[in-house]
Amino acid sequence: MRSDDWLESRLEYIYKRYFGDVEAINAIYIEFGRKARNQLGCIKKVFPKGVIDRIKGEFDTKIVINGFFRDEAIPEYVVDATIAHELSHYAHGFSSPLPQKYRHPHKGGKVRHEMHSRGFKDMLKKQKRWLKEEWRGYSG
Ligand SMILES: [Zn+2]
Repeated sequence: MRSDDWLESRLEYIYKRYFGDVEAINAIYIEFGRKARNQLGCIKKVFPKGVIDRIKGEFDTKIVINGFFRDEAIPEYVVDATIAHELSHYAHGFSSPLPQKYRHPHKGGKVRHEMHSRGFKDMLKKQKRWLKEEWRGYSG
């Protein structure tokens, strides 16, 4: 089974190689979350416990990856593409302190476009094919 440390190393690799121009101006965490059928990952703001920190409006960013992806039977590119999807949201200013570029995170294929421009076209295609052919029959 994959660990949160493994997941962190994937985030580090993908961020450095493909998103190096995107300034990470707050802390970005990643962890495996609950097992889910319909959501591969998500990105959210995490607010600090201190009152003053909250008043200042500072927050960390947390990427949560489907708990099923701990299973090594899930191809690494499926996990990588999911991380890249969430980092695209970060780059667009969603759940991130960066300026928000669009009104809606997904409308108009914004994430797909971002991923294509960053060299994820083939990986995205492979992920799509895998989701179509294998994910539905996956039982954990
Ligand atoms: Zn999304």
